[in-house]
Amino acid sequence: MRLSKNQKVIIVMGPAGSGKGTQAKLLAKKFGLEYVGSGDILRARQKVGDFTGKKLIKVMGSGALVPSFVVVKTLGDALERLKRQPKIKGMVLDGWTRIIFEAILTDEALNWYDWDKNVKVILLNISRRTSYNRLTKRRQCKKCGRLIPWAGEFKKLKKCDKCGGELITRVDDNLESIKKRLEEYKNQTMKAINYYRKQGRLIKINGEPSIEDIFKEILKTL
Ligand SMILES: [Zn+2]
Repeated sequence: MRLSKNQKVIIVMGPAGSGKGTQAKLLAKKFGLEYVGSGDILRARQKVGDFTGKKLIKVMGSGALVPSFVVVKTLGDALERLKRQPKIKGMVLDGWTRIIFEAILTDEALNWYDWDKNVKVILLNISRRTSYNRLTKRRQCKKCGRLIPWAGEFKKLKKCDKCGGELITRVDDNLESIKKRLEEYKNQTMKAINYYRKQGRLIKINGEPSIEDIFKEILKTL
């Protein structure tokens, strides 16, 4: 089955703390698209008690990067599942293109599933200082894994607004780990971003303002 012209694929990119997960979910809701986030899907993958499931618990728990092979395989499995939904309107991809290999293989996967006709890449730019600031203050639900951004109304939350679970600081949101992630972004993810830029597919958005204002800016470009 071919996708109709209206079906959208939106890839959201940005450094840690740029709010890409939040914006990706808002976009999915607005356009009735599937939210396909690497964090959620890899956490669900941990629950399969096989070799990869058990190893993911260890690797993700230590804050290390999940290897590209596992990331791309997991994305492929997710796209295969989505392909079974005949009325799907499209999807928002979050966290699958951290390095150029993954960007290229994501393109191949989208092409394989005939989802490559209407792909937009949104980059949320923030300063290093903002990244540090937001990451050291954001919280995560202990129960369902939901990340609560340090922004607007979310600052007031005492418990998870989805499941009522306890809110904690994420294991890998410490200064050393944040520094490492930002270095990886500069050294690796920038190459993936340049790959999209060279193809004229990159839409740059200022990620510094409020969640609502960023979202409005994104909508103007789509
Ligand atoms: Zn929760």
